[in-house]
Amino acid sequence: MIDGGFGEKCGVFAAVGQSSAVSLCHFGLYALQHRGQESAGLAVVQGDSIKTHKVTGLVSELFSHDRVRKLRGEIALGHVRHASRGDDALENAQPLTVKTRFGFISVAHNGNLTNAGVLRRGLEAQGSIFQTTLDTEVIPHLVAASSEKDVHGAFLDALGQVQGAYSLAAVTPQGCWAARDPHGFRPLCLGKTEDGWIVSSETCGLDSVGASFVREILPNEVVWIPKEGDVRTIREGGTEKEAFCVFEFVYFARPDTDIRGLNVHSVRKALGKKLARKAPCVADLVTGVPDSSLSAASGFAEESGIPYEMGLVKNRYIGRTFILPDDESRRFGVKVKLNPLRSLIEGKRVVLVDDSIVRGTTSRYMVGLMRSAGAREVHVRISSPPYRFPCYYGIDATRGKELVASTMNTQEIREIIGADSLSFLDIEDVKQVLGSFPGLCFSCFDGKYPVGPEE
Ligand code: AMP
Repeated sequence: MIDGGFGEKCGVFAAVGQSSAVSLCHFGLYALQHRGQESAGLAVVQGDSIKTHKVTGLVSELFSHDRVRKLRGEIALGHVRHASRGDDALENAQPLTVKTRFGFISVAHNGNLTNAGVLRRGLEAQGSIFQTTLDTEVIPHLVAASSEKDVHGAFLDALGQVQGAYSLAAVTPQGCWAARDPHGFRPLCLGKTEDGWIVSSETCGLDSVGASFVREILPNEVVWIPKEGDVRTIREGGTEKEAFCVFEFVYFARPDTDIRGLNVHSVRKALGKKLARKAPCVADLVTGVPDSSLSAASGFAEESGIPYEMGLVKNRYIGRTFILPDDESRRFGVKVKLNPLRSLIEGKRVVLVDDSIVRGTTSRYMVGLMRSAGAREVHVRISSPPYRFPCYYGIDATRGKELVASTMNTQEIREIIGADSLSFLDIEDVKQVLGSFPGLCFSCFDGKYPVGPEE
């Protein structure tokens, strides 16, 4: 966590200029649920005002479909949030709605602002009163404090002062902004329905409401989407500084999402194939840790010729274990969530593919599950490099020392997780797979930070 604010991996979705904006936004949030499960929120423009509804929990807990149908508005903004540990309070749910001298503004942010602490202390010294511990809250305060005369000027002024990662959508009664930081760490795209516009963290959100993909918001770009009229760019974008988070491809994004024309499933599958060539092994079956590593596991199986099997059955009714903020619930969550298929595994040599090792908890547990189901050998293959450095741009606020690969080499990690063998990809392997991508951030793997952390 950066002092002065929590940032996080989240999902944002907005629907503009259509009578069904609220229900589209509600559906869109369901499609982005994988990006955060601790709180959900939806802001609806009604006349000159914005009404905000929030819940700690899943999108399904936000409203009943009946209620959604009754909520009218031509602009809606939604957010799902993955909170940093111990920070799941309702007041920290987004969108953040405020009334400034320009009128109502509501902001939904994905990412982490690295200079939020400094900005916040400065604003507080001038009398600003903050309601949340969110880094995002500096944005409406900076808008309110701006000396610019119109709201667009004030919004751009505010964005010009924040650093780090932001892919955000913000609405006013007149329309919606979609904005990305100059490095474009997190994804954000623009879509079109028959009557209006959609902004979504991922293209799977556009698909869920039948919107067609128009384009990605470029790094540094700010787009204004009025309730009526033409969409226009009010801050130019470019890709020279691009540092897109490679972990979106490895783990975060949904497999049916495309980023810069690259399908996430296909990338993961190619990573799995690469892994099979780099670290082959003699085994009877390949299995993946559901769901995020199934694409890589299928690539490993295809390339190695070892059959792919459903070695683990997932209980679909609980969320991503890791997303539970404390270790206790995370451990508990994993147990309820996955059951090994003993009849397949007993007596077999198993290749267990996962997309990443962060703290090592999941791998250790999975190897134990395989052994308890009678596996003769368990070979763990990880379709990304060792995760060694904390992320300052919106991944879980994990401190460096909790990252098992920050202090241990592959052999030591193998021992800790109890595997017969363990291999990772390295950064070069990932670069080869993502060859055509203009600029990527590998800081969690190599510690090279495109924007320095504040403290
Ligand atoms: P760990 O148990 O700490 O080693 O975490 C690794 C597991 O969690 C892998 O199965 C990943 O699919 C998943 N994972 C990796 N990074 C994250 C993250 N930032 N948030 C949620 N899950 C993650």
